[in-house]
This record gives sequence, C-alpha cells and structure tokens, in this order.
Amino acid sequence: MIYKKLILLLAIVGFRGQIDAQNAVAVSNQKTEAWKKEIVNSLDGKYKSAQEMVDMVFSFSELGFQEMETSAYLTGILKKNGFSIEPGISGVPTAWLAKWGNGKPVIALGSDIDCIPKASQKPGVAYKEAIIEDAPGHGEGHNSGLPLVILAAIEVKKIMEREKIPGTLVIWPGVAEELLGTKAWYIRDGYFKNVDACIFTHVSSNLGVSWGDAGNTGLVSVEFKFEGSSAHAAGGPWRGKSALDAVELMDVAWNFKREHLKPTQRSHYVITDGGDQPNVVPSKAAVWYYLRERNYEDIKSMYDEAILYSKSVAEMTGTKVSHQLLGAAWPGHFNKPIAEAMYRNIKTIGLPTWDAADQQLARAVQKLVNAPKVSFRGQPIDGLATKVDTLDGPAQNFMMAGSDDIADIAWNVPTVVCRYPSNIPGLPGHNWADAIAMATPIAHKGVVAGTKVVATTLVDMLTNPKIIADAWDYHNNVQTKEVKYIPFIQTDTPPAIHLNKKIMDEFRPQLKKYYYDPSKYKTYLEQLGIQYPQLEKQSGG
Ligand SMILES: [Zn+2]
Repeated sequence: MIYKKLILLLAIVGFRGQIDAQNAVAVSNQKTEAWKKEIVNSLDGKYKSAQEMVDMVFSFSELGFQEMETSAYLTGILKKNGFSIEPGISGVPTAWLAKWGNGKPVIALGSDIDCIPKASQKPGVAYKEAIIEDAPGHGEGHNSGLPLVILAAIEVKKIMEREKIPGTLVIWPGVAEELLGTKAWYIRDGYFKNVDACIFTHVSSNLGVSWGDAGNTGLVSVEFKFEGSSAHAAGGPWRGKSALDAVELMDVAWNFKREHLKPTQRSHYVITDGGDQPNVVPSKAAVWYYLRERNYEDIKSMYDEAILYSKSVAEMTGTKVSHQLLGAAWPGHFNKPIAEAMYRNIKTIGLPTWDAADQQLARAVQKLVNAPKVSFRGQPIDGLATKVDTLDGPAQNFMMAGSDDIADIAWNVPTVVCRYPSNIPGLPGHNWADAIAMATPIAHKGVVAGTKVVATTLVDMLTNPKIIADAWDYHNNVQTKEVKYIPFIQTDTPPAIHLNKKIMDEFRPQLKKYYYDPSKYKTYLEQLGIQYPQLEKQSGG
C-alpha cells in the first residue's frame, strides 16, 4: 500500500516536472528566438571580419600538415577573444584545440584548413592565372571554414556571457584533410571524449545539411616502399634488383584487380619515388595508394589485398617491401536531430543576395571549365545558387565518391556538416578553378550566411537540451546500432607529419610576398590589383 502511494506520489511529481520542463522550454524558446535574431543582425555587420580572415588564410596557401601560418593566425584571433589554446594535439605541430566556457554541453566546432597542390590561382578572374606557378592554392576552399566557425563562436560567446548560459565551445582545425590525416588520430587520442556534439562546416555552392548515410566513401591511404639493389643499368643490369619493377608490377596487378572489385570502389595511386636516373637500376621506389569503399569491411579487404600484392611483387622482383598507413577515413554518416535543427535555421536565413558582379564571374567560370548543365542533385547549374538545398536524408544512390575524415568524428560523437555557399556550382573540385571565388565577395557572403546558420544552431543546442538528448538517441540506437566503429589506425600509428614539408619549404618564401596585408588593402583583390570581376586577361598585365 505504502509502495502504491509512493508510485502515485512519484507520478504526480514526475508529471509536475514535465509541466515545468515544458514551461521552461516554452520560455526559453522565446528567449532563444530573440537571441538568434540578435545574432543574425549582429553578423550582418561582421562582413569585414569574414572577408579579412577568409582572404588572409587564402593568401597563406598551406598544404596539409604544414599549416603553420594559418594555425598561428587563427589561434591568435581565438586567444584575443578569450579562448585557451592547447597546441600540437595528437603530435601534429599545426593542430590545436581552442576552448572557452564552462560545463555542459560541450560543443565542438571544426573545419579544414589545408589546400591543394599546384592550385595557385588569382581570385576574381575568369581565366587560369597562378599567383605563383605550380605553388599550392586553395582549390578546395578550405580557407573559409574556420573563419566561419570562429565568427560564429565569438558571437555566441557574447550571448552566453551576458545571459550566463552554461556550456563549453571547443574549436579545432581539420589539419591535412586532403590527406585524411588527423581526425581519426584526434578520436584515438581522446580529444572528443567529453564532447556532446560536433558541428563541422564545409564549403559548397549552396546552404545545406544532411543526415544519415552520406553516400560517400571511406578509405585507407597507404604508401608501399620497395627496396632492391642498384647496378649499372647497361653494364650489369642482371646484378640489379629493381624497386621500380616492383612498383610497376604492383600497379599493373591492381589495375587487373579493378575488374573484380565492386563498382563502388575508387582506388588511385601516385608513384612517390620512381628512382633517380635511368642508368642506375632503382634500389628504392615507392607508390602511394588511396583505397576507397563504402563500408569498413570492404575498405579493410582492399587494404589487406593491397598488402598481399605488395608482398607478392616483392617476391617476384627480389625486393623487400614495407608499408605505412598515412591517412584513414570512415564513410560519412551524420546526425538526424541536429541536422533537422540546423535546417530550420537554414530555411530562415536563406541564401546571400548575389549581385550582378558575383553572377557574372560565376557564369564566366562555369563556361571556362565547361561545367555540366545539371548538378548531381538534379538542379540546373547556371550562375550562383538562388534556391536553398533541401534537407536530405540517407543517400539513395551512390553519388559522392570522395571521402572526408570528419566521418571518424561522426561515428563517435553526434555530428553534422553545415555546407555554405562560398563557391561556384559545377566546378571540377581539387582544381585551380575552385580557388577563383575563394577570396571574392562570393566566398565572403557565403561565409556570413554559414556563420548565421552555425551560430543560431549553437544557440538552439545550448538552450534546448532535447536536441542533444535526441542526437545521442539517434547516434546510439540508429547510427551505431549495428555498425560499430573500428579504427583503421593502430594505437601507435604516427600522424604523417612529414608530408608536404619539402613542397612548402620550396614555396613558402615566394608565397610570403603575397600574404594579404589588411593594413594597406581593403581586400586581397585590391592587393592583387584585380578589378572584380575580371573576365578577360588584361593585356600587358
Ligand atoms: Zn574539403
């Protein structure tokens, strides 16, 4: 009887609790909406900050693992704004964590910062012209994501301080994303252990977010090094054991193998060492593979087979082989409740207002690169996007074959990727043409729009605990119900921080002359003497 009364009492208390919670949410909803409006209005005045940061990182043009100037600049801004910095996380000199705030929820905000080899390109012009021939450049638009995240965090921090909203903001860079080089290491080393949710941002040509299976691939990036023995290539070739023979046989074997792989795979390689000169039988040679597939098992199986092939060709050629894992990524899967919360803000905020100059440049560049008429998503490609993307659920068809190691974070912490419209639709990707818009008003306006989306979604997550509770429910009971994260890297796999060092050592002194100087020039376009949009090459220029 007492027991029954207790249950009744608990039921009443519980019921009251629910009413109170509902009231609390309703009250906070009103406040939340007011704070969100305030942030959006304030960000309309932050165009200059966005422009300056985006242009600055564009001018640094640093390849993966060598983002020294970029990281020093961005952490400098964060320090000035009260964030504490933990440098060199996971043994990566250009990686860091910036933290501000107290208690729960802990929300991580990230974006990539590295650029693309040989993608140096003048911004704002509708023709190919490098700033420095063969130098790296932002032909993937990774110069825009962290400026966006930083602006959003600073704006939300102001409200958190004033309104005493608990929570911790953690900002982190995707170092060497093009090499899939760090995010699995951050997870392995525990940097996301106490994180409740993660908002990632990636440049795109529209404003959007999606949830579920992203329809892309995961991968392992692995380099095989062969060692034989040299000999005079004419005088005594029978005495040599060619490491290059091993590399070539490995590539031939893998190209035969392709016929028997699933159509979802993508595999590609570059020969990183092909010997020194023809008259010396190459004693050393190396080949670097990216092996991509749609799930862990298929990636692992390709990885194991490639190792087997490398051993077989080593035997055939009398050489020795070793391999090193240089990068890894899981296929993407993103969180539904956070994506839905973000998409509500996307609809409210909408696309930037493009002017005639923006559209002129976009159409001229689309013509220049012979852009397709229709996108993967079935939308016409004609100038810049004017209609916001739909909220997409799990990919129905295999469409996006690329990989992004944000997936390794997304399989451990509820994560979404906010896509923002800082680039021109229909470009080839990883190309000089993809750099053209990235230090122009197109990039700057796109970043401001993305900043509004991230900042308002942050406010939602900080003030409505249900979003994060639902996010974990989806994470635990849908996303990882049957698929369990198994890392490709081992506990002792080092990050491949040696990559790109030589290239950056060669180009950094030249690039320095073109670093953006905001004390002298309003924009980077002005510094480079570009009349936006410059559709034709200036004669004698
Ligand atoms: Zn990217």
